[in-house]
Amino acid sequence: MKDPQIKGIGMTSQRTRDRLVQRLESKGITDERVLDVMRHTPRHLFVDEALSSRAYEDTALPIGHCQTISQPYIVARMTALLVAEYDPQKVLEIGTGSGYQTALLAQLVPTVHTIERIPGLYKLAQERIHGLGMHNVHFKLSDGAWGWPKYAPYDAIMVTAAPENVPDPLLEQLAVGARMLIPLGSEGSIQKLSLIKRTSSGYKQESLESVSFVPLVLGEGVR
Ligand code: SAH
Repeated sequence: MKDPQIKGIGMTSQRTRDRLVQRLESKGITDERVLDVMRHTPRHLFVDEALSSRAYEDTALPIGHCQTISQPYIVARMTALLVAEYDPQKVLEIGTGSGYQTALLAQLVPTVHTIERIPGLYKLAQERIHGLGMHNVHFKLSDGAWGWPKYAPYDAIMVTAAPENVPDPLLEQLAVGARMLIPLGSEGSIQKLSLIKRTSSGYKQESLESVSFVPLVLGEGVR
């Protein structure tokens, strides 16, 4: 990816990005590390060119295949919850989508594993992330409900598509002391963002705010 493209102009310029970050701060995001990576990550390169002028609005946008890139506020909130108070070394993300959330995690965590079920999105996200010179992300095309046992356990798991219940393999692949963020509930009904912590004796689940994610679809993807 060429530098001028990354830098952006007009509606994709640094000034526009700074305004988004100010907005996130006014909505209660205080984690400096998260604000900093959001200030410097070119979200406009993770959406179709026709939508790039809207990339720094605080809104979800379509990315094709009936999927969406999540709203910046919710991305910031989930990222902050994931890295708050501790320093995960190895993270598993389910639902690569555009790769934007992945790119943020890759700047905050030494190793990121990410799984997507739709081949077109999987391929494009890899190209974007490599184009930005990030090489600490491992991509897998699969049903993320199975997790990625080969590299388990993980210090943190972030799920960006909503199942009705937490898939058991993801619970099993969480290290003791680790946390998972996952939206729970069916599409169209109220979903709750849940924070699950694994302790030496079991799991603790906390229900946070209402959210709206695309469903976690089980089984392999379609082209
Ligand atoms: N973090 C992404 C969110 C994309 S939307 C972004 O901001 O761009 C959720 C993604 O989860 C979609 O790309 C969808 O294809 C993917 N997904 C849904 N069910 C899945 C599953 N079982 N395994 C892996 N990915 C899944």
